[in-house]
Amino acid sequence: MKKRIGIFGSTGSVGRQALEVIREQKEFFEVEVLTAHRNATMLISQAMEFKPNVVVIADKSHYNQVFDVLDPMDIKVYAGGEALDQVMEMESMDVVLMAIVGFASLSPTLAALRNKKQLALASKESLVVGGKLIRQLAVENRVPIIPVDSEHNAIFQSLMGEGNNPIEKIVLTASGGPFRGYNRKKLEMVTPADALKHPVWNMGPKVSVDSASLMNKGLEAIEAYWLFGLEIHQIQVVIHPESLIHSLVYFTDGSVKTQMSLPDMKIPVQFALSYPERLSNSLKRLDLIEQGTLHFESPDVENFRNLALAFEALEKGGNLPCILNAANEIAVQAFLKEQIGFLQIPEVVESCMGSVEFIGNPTQDDYFETDKLTRIKAGESIKKFD
Ligand code: NDP
Repeated sequence: MKKRIGIFGSTGSVGRQALEVIREQKEFFEVEVLTAHRNATMLISQAMEFKPNVVVIADKSHYNQVFDVLDPMDIKVYAGGEALDQVMEMESMDVVLMAIVGFASLSPTLAALRNKKQLALASKESLVVGGKLIRQLAVENRVPIIPVDSEHNAIFQSLMGEGNNPIEKIVLTASGGPFRGYNRKKLEMVTPADALKHPVWNMGPKVSVDSASLMNKGLEAIEAYWLFGLEIHQIQVVIHPESLIHSLVYFTDGSVKTQMSLPDMKIPVQFALSYPERLSNSLKRLDLIEQGTLHFESPDVENFRNLALAFEALEKGGNLPCILNAANEIAVQAFLKEQIGFLQIPEVVESCMGSVEFIGNPTQDDYFETDKLTRIKAGESIKKFD
């Protein structure tokens, strides 16, 4: 029996790579659902190739364009954010790959878990904001969450077969991004185009900027906290520019386990889709001799303050990670539109963390309200920089 996959965010970087994996592994997978936000043209061409049962275009204004082409092909077309949640009820979907960027991934992630769908989770923002709810639902409904983020996927793989053996700590590795080693003076001058030129990974625009600002590693620390049930002091970040060691787990007997591979997202994506099996593929292999040397250093939290802000949000908890996330999403958009400079991203985040009301034990509704309020506050704070 082929696994029937729903790819939420199929037009993005992770979504497109998932379709490449499925194209190579046709005997094992078929596509049941594809979704996009606005990129109707790409969604249509993906649907024509992979013939899913259903597609969802989240932005309703593109519905007619998609419907006119796909309805005659017997592909059901839905539109709107609510439809992303509703299609999770489909019994014909075995695995959900969640690859929608940002806060918009939270509601469909929760819907997937409520409907007991095995979840391959790339969208770290959903865990950053609603980690507690996601964890509760996954435990209550006994749904496995297989992390797609390469670092968490490496930790997940290192924990396989370990049962209840205690973890001493984990090390999240970070490439350091395109601005590794830059001081404040140099960071003042960087442009969106510089931030999008990642030295190792080829990713969507938001995660590329997050990577350059080290917010990505901060979000990943929060993601790891919820995925693996760790204490905050057990999470360490180490810069590893080659990005071949994707993270490490230290056990209490002094043993350290890792997962290594060339930096190619198709490896963790395929693992998350095929889990618990491993499938052979033709991806390029790691050659240690060719690689030669590996490097490691501490992160620079003075010049890249986002990492420290994310740890602060994790320490204080409640809705603070939600505030951090929403402020960062707005600040990154503003940076990409050249409305603010790179160093103003953490300023916007910090100002929202200090001004949006703190809620110690938020409900799902509180997260939506916090997200909304923070976006308004972040917008106001950006205007002050004009
Ligand atoms: P992209 O920006 O490339 O793609 C985002 C996808 O989400 C697109 O399909 C987009 O549709 C869709 N989308 C955006 N906004 C909405 C919305 N409001 N409602 C519904 N769908 C929406 O992102 P990436 O693929 O780079 O990243 C996806 C997630 O995976 C992020 O959380 C990121 O942190 C994580 N991740 C990414 C990695 C990578 O290598 N790219 C690595 C590890 C984790 P449309 O194209 O129509 O706009």
